[in-house]
Amino acid sequence: MHRVVFARPLVPGSKVELTREQSHYLVNVLRMKEGEQFIGLDQEGKAFVLCLDTNGKGTVLFPRAEADNEPDFAVSLYVPLLKGDKLDWVVQKSVELGVSSIRLYSAQRAVVKEGNLEKKIARWEKIALEATEQCRRQKVPPVRGIYTLEEVAAAGPGLFAWEEEANRGLQGWLQAHPKQNLLLLTGPEGGLAAQEATLLKDAGWSAVSLGPRILRAETAAIAMLTCVMFAWGAMG
Ligand code: SAM
Repeated sequence: MHRVVFARPLVPGSKVELTREQSHYLVNVLRMKEGEQFIGLDQEGKAFVLCLDTNGKGTVLFPRAEADNEPDFAVSLYVPLLKGDKLDWVVQKSVELGVSSIRLYSAQRAVVKEGNLEKKIARWEKIALEATEQCRRQKVPPVRGIYTLEEVAAAGPGLFAWEEEANRGLQGWLQAHPKQNLLLLTGPEGGLAAQEATLLKDAGWSAVSLGPRILRAETAAIAMLTCVMFAWGAMG
């Protein structure tokens, strides 16, 4: 059944407005007819069965018991602004993989300016919402930021991928640590500066290598998250 996330609480017996886009998708793309059922999710991730109504509305029928598809540990991913539409891809894929939140931060060697960020964050939030509906998650991961690296460091400790780390690999770190809530960070296209790595380390963050090859910034973010999800059993 198709899933739609609503901004307002869902109460059995009440009607809820679909956005024009949601209504277009259900009626024109999926060709659903009036009276057909779909799943509505509220902001807390609770699921309800709804019935498609006239004039782009849905009637909330009853709560739906469903398997919890959220990982049982929370992973927040800190990423810098990236060129072009690369962050669109990172947001979409990280939501599919089970990220809990996506947090943007300012990096010295980021090549993208921070202008017009509000509009961009709104776009990434929409991508996160659509990915949540598509991959059958219950909760929409928020996209927040932009944080300074000092703020990131203070939010830790966490784990950051550093291309200059020679001694400790991600696999070894994951094998040595039990499943837990975790902050992950990957660097910008230009890499993390040594002072940035020091700032993180001084705040208790651990640097890890992702192997001998240098991954593109967007690949590194998704590869690191995938490894964590796989190692701690969130990928089947
Ligand atoms: N400009 C850097 C260079 O040429 O060495 C590469 C930066 S890389 C494109 C972007 C980010 O991905 C890095 O800051 C790091 O967080 C992560 N990354 C990529 N490959 C990595 C690796 N093999 N080990 C650890 N981190 C890696």
